[in-house]
Amino acid sequence: MIDFRPKDRPFLIAGPCSAETRKQVLATAEGLKNLPIDLLRGGIWKPRTRPGNFEGVGEEAIGWLKEAGEKIGKPITVEVANTSHVEIALKGGVDVLWIGARTTVNPFMVQEIAEALQGTNIPILVKNPVNPDVELWIGAIERLHSVGLNNVAAIHRGFSTFQKSPFRNSPNWNIPIELKRRMPSVPIICDPSHICGNRELLGEVAQKAIDLSMNGLMLESHYNPAEAWSDSAQQVTPEKLEEILKGLVWRNPDSQDLEVKAKLEELRATIDGLDRDILDLLIERLDVSRDIGQYKKAHNLTILQHERWNEILHDREAHVEGKQLSVRFLHKFLEAIHEESIQQQTDIMNSKNADN
Ligand code: PEP
Ligand code: MN
Repeated sequence: MIDFRPKDRPFLIAGPCSAETRKQVLATAEGLKNLPIDLLRGGIWKPRTRPGNFEGVGEEAIGWLKEAGEKIGKPITVEVANTSHVEIALKGGVDVLWIGARTTVNPFMVQEIAEALQGTNIPILVKNPVNPDVELWIGAIERLHSVGLNNVAAIHRGFSTFQKSPFRNSPNWNIPIELKRRMPSVPIICDPSHICGNRELLGEVAQKAIDLSMNGLMLESHYNPAEAWSDSAQQVTPEKLEEILKGLVWRNPDSQDLEVKAKLEELRATIDGLDRDILDLLIERLDVSRDIGQYKKAHNLTILQHERWNEILHDREAHVEGKQLSVRFLHKFLEAIHEESIQQQTDIMNSKNADN
């Protein structure tokens, strides 16, 4: 029985992006033997963006992974993207299946996979969809739950973005946080390899995932990353993986120490009070905003006045300069307030009521 939420430690998955040859799988597993990993991964059907790239070895590689897993005493996992993959993986005795990001986007495929798995109690991992849509991610997990699969965990592997970013897939941390809020019983494992797309940022992203109380990590490891047939830039040798893991600080989501609990409660009570003050001030600010809306309506003025909006941004930037508040946050915050204010003024402008 695989427990994706072991006590007092993270759940770790490691192994190559793709199983390439028997030698590569065995050599990589040998390197991982003494690391505290729970599951050996290896893709055998690879979803490639363009045709003609290495698309995986297929069924034959299950034997290599099983052999490697048995040698080092670890269960194995492969990606399944359709019902024939499911059938082959189940027949081959794969211990855990994962659904990839390009499959989670497609409810038809997920439903078919779920139905093909009905009646088994195989543990299953669901990667987030490539697009930043938490509903689709939740939907895929629900489809598995609804056929009676209850050992389901999520994998956060980041989201496609057209914007320039240091990451291959933007982490959008708010999305796994929202998944956790909506489905608190589903463990979440972070996959820094596919978020980063390179070796350099792996430790940083893994630490951030831990700090956000994720339950584990999936990291791609290859005995010779430079020669890997897929995702070469983001894979690390088992030695490098060990170094990354040693550099991480595992933190507890909770403390049993009464003194720590009391101090946290005190600080949180202060935050609760401050939040209420901020909300009361916001409500007061919007009251003034609506008065301005009435005035603009009476004098036939536009709601948005560009110079005024610019002036607000510049004035508030100057106000927080040198203080512990980033300009990025300030802009997001003011834009949210401005949007609400425009909405309320628009309601006033459109209202037929003479009092409004
Ligand atoms: C993988 O894990 O190798 C993989 C193809 O991942 P994703 O579905 O996250 O792109
Ligand atoms: Mn990969």
